[in-house]
Amino acid sequence: MIPSHIEHIGIAVKDLASSIKYYENILGLKCYAVEEVKDQKVRTAFFMVGQTKIELLESTEADGPIGKFIEKRGEGVHHIAFAVEKLHEALNEVEAKGVQLIDKTPRNGAEGLQIAFLHPKSTGGVLTELCSKPERD
Ligand code: ZN
Repeated sequence: MIPSHIEHIGIAVKDLASSIKYYENILGLKCYAVEEVKDQKVRTAFFMVGQTKIELLESTEADGPIGKFIEKRGEGVHHIAFAVEKLHEALNEVEAKGVQLIDKTPRNGAEGLQIAFLHPKSTGGVLTELCSKPERD
């Protein structure tokens, strides 16, 4: 597995609307999509920076993963997502190397991507996401 680029950086925020203003008015980026991912109890907002996205994550429920993260650690960088060609193979490869997986099989993320998280215990404390475009069967 060789990631092609950083697909996105996920940032946990309390208030999506006011965070969008920061990225638009201060950094001059344009929010091009807002999407709810019910699975993960989040609303996301996306900005493009080169070929990397900023993904803002606002919890839709207090007991969701982002709600819990903010309660424990406050707002801030939540995860880094690397784009890989074949997610299934990448997961098998890192698991064989002893990495603890949060998702043993890919699941649906925002923007129609297949995603899976690696456990921060195995990644030096950085919640790491691998993602790929859907694989054809
Ligand atoms: Zn992500």
